[in-house]
Amino acid sequence: MEFRLEHRRYQLPFRSTVRTAHGPWELRQGLYVRLEAADGSVGFGEASPVPGFGDETVEADEAQCLALGGKLDAASLSRVPRALGALRRALASAMNPLPLPLHKSLAVAALLPAGRAALLSAPEKVEAGFRVFKWKVAVEAADDELAMLDDLIALLPHGSSIRLDANGGWNLRTAERWLDRASGRPVEFIEQPLARDMKGAEDALMGLSGDYPVALALDESLVGDADVSRWIDLGWKGFFVAKPALLGDAAQTLGRLSAAGARVVFSSALETGLGARVSLGIAFAWPGNRCALGFGVWPLFVDARYDGPAAAPFLRFDDVKRLDPSTLWNATI
Ligand code: MG
Repeated sequence: MEFRLEHRRYQLPFRSTVRTAHGPWELRQGLYVRLEAADGSVGFGEASPVPGFGDETVEADEAQCLALGGKLDAASLSRVPRALGALRRALASAMNPLPLPLHKSLAVAALLPAGRAALLSAPEKVEAGFRVFKWKVAVEAADDELAMLDDLIALLPHGSSIRLDANGGWNLRTAERWLDRASGRPVEFIEQPLARDMKGAEDALMGLSGDYPVALALDESLVGDADVSRWIDLGWKGFFVAKPALLGDAAQTLGRLSAAGARVVFSSALETGLGARVSLGIAFAWPGNRCALGFGVWPLFVDARYDGPAAAPFLRFDDVKRLDPSTLWNATI
């Protein structure tokens, strides 16, 4: 079946600058695709590559859309380069309806701001009912952040757990200090302690994962489908942070993860509501061993029309289904 293809670019300022170990991030750029079949049925997708995750750019995605010449079928989709995983996801999801969900609702992790601001934010998240928390670390000096960890844990109710995301911002010695400190504390996992491009990173991550009782999670090490497959083949025992928005071949890759019994954290790529509908649809349909969703990110944009469902301790599939892609397409000229 051949579809008529259109695309529209968006540029959206974040409500507040996203601070990560990669540096400040102020403007979300991406593009929407719209496919129309001969019978008039319409589907939408979002390509939202993340700076620091591979080489895919919005410019490359747009050039590829133009090269497709306003039409798409299964054969031309299969020829879109694997390196453009976000665009492949956008096009594939515009071709297909949301998969059937296996759950009515899923737990969500609360995202805490980096640094001392986490201590101010945590009580309101606790009050809202969250029990899984995520704190961005490797943003300030390690000594300061290590000193804050127990203060932060002290604010959380019994039975809570916390995820620490270093975004690849530590060296091996600092990572070892954190793994020592996290032992015996309610730390669910430490995410991406070492940079993907650090010399010997794979061996070092495998070593740390075996040497400490605290689990590790891979995020930046998993740019796309090929990375996930490689780490499964390496026998990675930690968590996999899966951003469906970046998985061009999500069905195949997630099938491999469930077959491997992997623990998966479905996470936002800070996409808009249009892409989030797809990403969350994939998460709700996945049969494997999942943990709280990493989708506690909204409100995210100055223009609130582009937000996904507001962060809450549980996300209902009904709220995902209700997101209307045509509204965002029409709002983006
Ligand atoms: Mg991360």
